[in-house]
Amino acid sequence: MGGNHDIWKYFTKIGPDKNFKQGRAQCNYCDHKCNESVVRCEGHLKVCDYADLETKQQYFGSTFQEPNFSV
Ligand SMILES: [Zn+2]
Repeated sequence: MGGNHDIWKYFTKIGPDKNFKQGRAQCNYCDHKCNESVVRCEGHLKVCDYADLETKQQYFGSTFQEPNFSV
């Protein structure tokens, strides 16, 4: 379901992993892997250190800003 969702421009479906029954997806910008779920992938894309702001704004909209991790 949702095979043509835009999130799949940013993640590659890698199928089931031996340790996981559910299909897995890998971020196209880093080696992060998560469940093949739009919600999971969006959650990672928001905080991915390797995807630039432009890429994130393309997906989340031009008002998206990097979360500000103040130390
Ligand atoms: Zn990533």
